[in-house]
Amino acid sequence: MSENTRPFHGVISSIQPRIRLNRSFDQSWHSYLGYALTIVEAEGTPLLVGISEKLQEKHQLRVGMAVSGCCKPVEDSKLESVDYYRVTGFKVFEAESEQPVPPSLENYRQRGPRRLAAKTYETACTSCMWGCRMAVEIIVDQWKPWIRKYRTETFCYGPKSCKNYRPGPNRRVTGRNKMVYIEEDWVDEMLTEHRGEDE
Ligand code: SF4
Repeated sequence: MSENTRPFHGVISSIQPRIRLNRSFDQSWHSYLGYALTIVEAEGTPLLVGISEKLQEKHQLRVGMAVSGCCKPVEDSKLESVDYYRVTGFKVFEAESEQPVPPSLENYRQRGPRRLAAKTYETACTSCMWGCRMAVEIIVDQWKPWIRKYRTETFCYGPKSCKNYRPGPNRRVTGRNKMVYIEEDWVDEMLTEHRGEDE
């Protein structure tokens, strides 16, 4: 085992999509990286581990399953919503679980997200398969693309009728010459207009 490899052995308490959001003033695009597992071990704080979509397809992971393996710390924490990734030696040693299997990344993409208040995410959504905390990379000036800012934003891909849902404030994106783009509510409405209230 190499020096910075971290073994894990515990129960999955959350599985959500692992998606990175890029912003450049009023433009935005997503990278679908895989899934984010929260793994609760016998001792210590829960581990946030990124896995590939291929691993998820193979094991059909869901909350309640017990798993083990090894992972490595992420190289650039600004670009990741998890603390570890590059999982090797992955094993499922307790597969019994009544919980649903999260959908494919393509399904999340088709559903589209709505912004979700960070506080609501922390209090009600961290173990919901529709929640997502994205690492966000912002190109401040498209003529100087090396100037970037980083933050996280939280989103909901779930049914619009969920009683927990709170949008929180509109997101603001700084551009060149200190201009600020405010992402209005119609963006979320447009991204999810093909879904009914309970879908
Ligand atoms: S608002 Fe509801 S559906 Fe959306 S992530 Fe939170 S609990 Fe899940």
